[in-house]
Amino acid sequence: MTVAHHPNDFDAVVVGAGFAGLYMLHRLRSAGLRARVVEAASGPGGTWFWNRYPGARCDIESMQYSYQFSTALEQEWNWSERYASQPEILKYVEHVIERFQLSDDIQFNTRVKSAVYDESAARWTVTTASGEILTSQFCIMATGCLSSTNLPDFKGLDAFKGPQYHTGQWPSDGVDFTGKRVAVIGTGSSAVQSIPLIAEQAAELLVFQRTPNYSIPAFNAPLSEDERNRIKANYGALREAGKQQILAYDIEYNPQLAANASPAEIRAECEKRWRLGGLYFYGAFADMLIDEKVNRTVADFVREKIREKVSDPTVADLLTPQAIFGCKRICADTNYFETFNRANVKLIDVSEIPIAGMTALGVQVGDQEYAVDAIVFATGFDAMTGSLNRIDIRGKSGEKLVDKWSAGPRTYLGLSTAGFPNLFTISGPGSPSVLTCMITSIEQHVEFIGDCIDHMRTAGLREIEPTVEAEEAWVSHVNDVAASTLFNSCNSWYLGANVPGKKRIFMPYIGFPPYVEKCNEVVANGYEGFTLSAA
Ligand code: NAP
Repeated sequence: MTVAHHPNDFDAVVVGAGFAGLYMLHRLRSAGLRARVVEAASGPGGTWFWNRYPGARCDIESMQYSYQFSTALEQEWNWSERYASQPEILKYVEHVIERFQLSDDIQFNTRVKSAVYDESAARWTVTTASGEILTSQFCIMATGCLSSTNLPDFKGLDAFKGPQYHTGQWPSDGVDFTGKRVAVIGTGSSAVQSIPLIAEQAAELLVFQRTPNYSIPAFNAPLSEDERNRIKANYGALREAGKQQILAYDIEYNPQLAANASPAEIRAECEKRWRLGGLYFYGAFADMLIDEKVNRTVADFVREKIREKVSDPTVADLLTPQAIFGCKRICADTNYFETFNRANVKLIDVSEIPIAGMTALGVQVGDQEYAVDAIVFATGFDAMTGSLNRIDIRGKSGEKLVDKWSAGPRTYLGLSTAGFPNLFTISGPGSPSVLTCMITSIEQHVEFIGDCIDHMRTAGLREIEPTVEAEEAWVSHVNDVAASTLFNSCNSWYLGANVPGKKRIFMPYIGFPPYVEKCNEVVANGYEGFTLSAA
């Protein structure tokens, strides 16, 4: 018998066509569901669609920052560099779409305005900015953790006469800074990657720094065919090793406690991490982000390395962080600190006298006006909750998610939230997400959600929702784990501290392997912590 469907009625609507939305679509379709992905951008890739700033590159190695659900895909794709550039990641995304024939079920240029749950029908109504209405049993938010840009509310933003850019919304046809005097505001990962390249092009570059960041050289290099083949020959083992580690990818994690190691052993491990480069430092010692004294020893090592790179001691002092090492995400760079030795680059410290705002000519700091031709805001994101809160999401009794989360996000496993049945969040707050290789975490969530929907359909169930008790217990567990580390010690975006007025709560869950274990237990115990109800 053929079942007639209204064209806009689906089993599942997925919001976002980044890595999460694409794999979710593939998983749903493989199970025979009618699914539609809606995406605000004009193309796929999510955060990788928008972050096209000069030097945009992943800080996790390409052979690990890629899907692992398909062995054939893994074997056929050839990454050209140790760390993939943004354009190459987009090419990979396009290949995945073509290979799994996903494009027919993706609707681009479609921003979701609201998602409202109809209790009597047990269905979601998703309304787009153009007024189109889609309905579905399941609504899956694949909206990304770093997709809502954060532009500080600087005075006079409109007054500035020149062009302004945000690294997270970079024009697709690029920007030519040749001969220009450019301001970059911010010194996080996006700035650390773009500053060396903007400095090469611009006549003059002014970098406005509020807080210096730890950055470790990435040592990016082309990947030879031999290297790729060596990894591919044993890909499964590499992926498995990654899943046993805290960041969900292989960082040669050292389970040793530095507190039990000799100074020579600590030094040797730090030198090894420095040679490995970038985020490999997160694997240095099991107690690096727990024991302040250990952290100081590692940080001193990195500070020494930074000072060696910068010729002017005053500039070196300003660029050397004093914070807990790794509390804010470590950056991975190519020639970042060296760029400040260039004659055309000037570092402007705004830690004590903040940026007062923009003028017609440039950036005002105290009584000093810095005239520039263009301003680049590398000021980050309203992370993890930003994209969800910008959609008017309403659950049972019309409760708004934004109200429920006004004192910070509350989820069960970062996958679902009480009062919002059949709504799933891929890599939502309360899951390891941003502290891991995102693609591995995404795959684990997609598979959890896919299996859960399969189970519901087989058992004839129509609603799933976490209990308030399970959610409360999970939220307090996430907080307890964070409180046992040094992660609460700095003003990071993990805590929402970068967005004025945002509630200070550590949002991601620390530890991929225990998290997966917990999810597996929940399923093995019949979706423990969830209420499932029949049709
Ligand atoms: P970010 O780490 O939040 O950095 C934002 C920068 O803007 C900080 O230096 C911040 O200073 C500064 N800032 C914000 N408001 C300011 C103000 N009012 N005045 C002066 N400075 C201000 O953002 P991001 O660099 O875009 O990176 C966010 C995350 O995206 C990263 O941590 C990483 O997870 C991801 N990312 C990854 C890659 C990669 O894979 N390689 C590249 C880019 C981004 P304060 O520190 O003082 O707040």
